[in-house]
Amino acid sequence: MIKLGFYGAAGEVTGSCYVVTTDRARVMVDMGMHQGEKQADEHNRKMIPADLPEIDAVVLTHAHLDHCGRLPMLIKGGYRGPIYCTAATEDVTAIILRDSAHLQQEDYARFLKHIHGKPTDKDANRQPLYTQDEVERTLPRMTSVAYELEQKIAEGITIKLSDAGHILGAGSVRMTVNDGSRTVVIVFSGDVGQTNAPILRDPVTPTPADVVLLESTYGDQDHKSMEETRAELLAILQLAERTQGKVVIPAFAVGRTQDLVFHIGEFIRGGQLKQLPVYIDSPMATSVSGLYSRYTDLYDERATELIKQQMAPLSFPGVIYTHSVDESKQLNDARGSMVIISANGMCTGGRILHHLRHNLPDPNAHVLIVGYQGNGTLGRRLVDGAKFVSIFGGDVPVRAKVHTLGGFSAHAGQTQLVQWAAPFKESKPRMFLTHGEDGPRKALHDKLVEAYGIDATMPYFGNEVEL
Ligand SMILES: [Zn+2]
Repeated sequence: MIKLGFYGAAGEVTGSCYVVTTDRARVMVDMGMHQGEKQADEHNRKMIPADLPEIDAVVLTHAHLDHCGRLPMLIKGGYRGPIYCTAATEDVTAIILRDSAHLQQEDYARFLKHIHGKPTDKDANRQPLYTQDEVERTLPRMTSVAYELEQKIAEGITIKLSDAGHILGAGSVRMTVNDGSRTVVIVFSGDVGQTNAPILRDPVTPTPADVVLLESTYGDQDHKSMEETRAELLAILQLAERTQGKVVIPAFAVGRTQDLVFHIGEFIRGGQLKQLPVYIDSPMATSVSGLYSRYTDLYDERATELIKQQMAPLSFPGVIYTHSVDESKQLNDARGSMVIISANGMCTGGRILHHLRHNLPDPNAHVLIVGYQGNGTLGRRLVDGAKFVSIFGGDVPVRAKVHTLGGFSAHAGQTQLVQWAAPFKESKPRMFLTHGEDGPRKALHDKLVEAYGIDATMPYFGNEVEL
């Protein structure tokens, strides 16, 4: 008997976690953090209904927190087996998990200060999910596998990772499961990137399969085209150059920052911009950019061509990676046009806050929103056209021009998801839509019925199905 359990990213976009069980093995795909949704904290603290030492292997699709963010809880809970992923994912995950533990411990310290006393039992859910130590014990469990190589991970179970084109090292997993009497092939799409995104290669659909789990984050919409989005970005940067304005871009440190640096580099290489200084003001983005520069074997044709011409796609004249907080603060007083890319991407913390505080009151400045902004975040208030926002407890007037560019998503839009599933139109495997809220996944469901006659299931947290 082969069973598949859904313990996250089922009716929501975060907390990815799936478990495959046979009579002789049990493996897990992803152990991500739940973020934002109502039961996030409860779900984060709830482990899957199995003893952790019983799990034989874990596979990680990619390094985003909603996929890797709870791995240290496995180690804390007694898991001692390997965590399989690509080498690049292993390196990016180390940066992400260390940062996550640091932020959680910082939050908890702030909470303890706030309550002026000892925490009670009911404050238990305020404690960090794990500590820096537990992260350091997790990282040595990570075992790298190359794309497109079959790897045995447990009795009767092998995996093969294919490029998902999402962030550096991201993979889709094709898992072959034999329970002693029959074999079932399961494909986990992981997060699927956009075709034509810069730097990285386009996503590959692993085939054939009996069962497919497909993400559906943007199952209900298409992004603006890459060409249109690039043109919008260029127009804003050219305007800023002419008017000596500053351009502040809140961006996720992994993926989005590198994409932006690449696009701006292309404009400069193409002579469309003069030497506009571009400051990358996020230690995490700087570390991740270093990894992008190390894994050039994962680049697409255009980025590879640049390397051949002795050009580094992510460091051209004009790009400055800041390090210290002092360097960061000096940008407040710097004059002339410049781009400042800083984290975090939703403006809920990090160095971006002081850049916004300084530049939002300036009618000559521009703020570019290039990523998803969650409900209730400062980024969302800017998108919604707030005239005043609160930063560090003070009211800040919004006089800068706020632009929203929707085309730089790291996720495939609806049409690209349907195209990703095209190789399955003849065989019609059993399909599950995950990693999407109900609206988007219902829309994708209807598209898949219409295009290929595939009637996908929409599982919920805790569902377990027999394959
Ligand atoms: Zn992701």
